[in-house]
Order: sequence, then structure tokens, then C-alpha cells
Amino acid sequence: MSRTHRLDLDDQTLREWDAVVLDSGPDGIVLDRSAFYPGGGGQPPDHGVLLWGGVQTRIVGVRRGDDLALLPDPDDPLPPAGTVVRGAVEDERRTALMRTHSGLHLLSGVVFRDFGALVTGSNMEPLEGRLDFNLDSVPEGFRDAVEAACAVEVAADRAIAAYALPREEALAIPDVIRTAANLLPPELEVVRLVDIDGLDVQADGGTHVASTAQIGRLRVVKVENKGKGFRRIRVALD
Ligand SMILES: [Zn+2]
Repeated sequence: MSRTHRLDLDDQTLREWDAVVLDSGPDGIVLDRSAFYPGGGGQPPDHGVLLWGGVQTRIVGVRRGDDLALLPDPDDPLPPAGTVVRGAVEDERRTALMRTHSGLHLLSGVVFRDFGALVTGSNMEPLEGRLDFNLDSVPEGFRDAVEAACAVEVAADRAIAAYALPREEALAIPDVIRTAANLLPPELEVVRLVDIDGLDVQADGGTHVASTAQIGRLRVVKVENKGKGFRRIRVALD
């Protein structure tokens, strides 16, 4: 069990906070409270900085073990255990990743609703990402149809909410059964859901914007045929 309280799960808009260093070394810094997203679910970890005693320690990644270990830039000084630090998440990168992650959920919802295809893989970087779909063939005009349908959902400004439900309640939701029934670890008693109102619900631990309008324009850059029943859709955000 991690000793770090996950402020990023309490408030996805939080970018600065105070914390105490519990452990510190070149392999990682453990804080009592952190808003650094540690990576997972296809979303890369946050970058940022710890400010203390008039110096800064740049954070270039996070390693998830028993504890969340913030990975320091090797050229920077390390705050010793017991130090009170000011943590700050790099806003530009995080906000871009939140928009991208929400954009991929929107894409997943649209492609399932309009073409009945399920996601089989994903990857994202700030402002670009891809989803793989189990889709036998793509109709004429598929790329434009997907992009137009995504634009409609962005313009509809659907609310995006993150909340936790007991496992059984979560698994009673058809969208969740479809996307996660076989993926949820058996010991997980509470499932965090990300819900795009009226479009898509998924079990998800990532960070998201509050509504589809905040995703902005989603361009379908490319639709690749990767083999039988395997289509890869690459998207970019403006
Ligand atoms: Zn996700």
C-alpha cells in the first residue's frame, strides 16, 4: 500500500500543493501527498518540480511500486526526508494529456456507437494518440465520418465525470462489462469510472478534462490496416 495520498485523484485540476518528504534517494522521492499522475492506463506520468530551501528538484517521471517514487533529474539536489516541499505539476503537459486522454475515450465511444468496434490497444503522448480497434472492414469515408462524429460530441459539451463505485455496481453497467469485465483485478473492490455523459463509461485511473468541449478539435490523422480485423486510428489535437 502506497504511503502517498493521491491528490490528483481528488482534484484533477490541482497543480500546486505542500507536502513532506517521507523518503529520498536517487531512485526516487516519496511524498506524503502528491498530485503527480504516476502513469498508467496508457497515460504517461507527469513532469514537474519540487521547491524547497531556495532550490528546485525537477521531477522527470514516476515509478509505481509499493510506493509512488518521484524520479528526480540526476543533476538536481535531493530534498532529505522530513523536508517540507512545494510540489508543482507542469501544467502544459498535464493539461494536454488530460485533453488527449478524454479525446481517446470520446473516440472509443463514437466508434463503438457508430461502428460497433471494441478497443484492443492504445497509446498517447501530449496532443496525440492512437486506439486500436477490432474492426473487420472500414466503410468508404470512415475517416471523415469518425472525425465529424467526434466534432459533434465535442460541440455537445458533454460532462465528463470521474467517480468510484463498488465493483458489483460498476460491473452492472453495460459499457463497463464490454470494456473491462476481464481486465479488472479480482481483488479490486472499488472501481473508478470515467463517464462521458450519454456516450461512454469506462473503468479508468487516468486524469480527464471536465467536459468534451475542453478536448477541443480532434483530427483523425490516419486509419491504418494492421491485419485482419485490426484497425489503428491515429488522432491529434489542435
Ligand atoms: Zn482511459
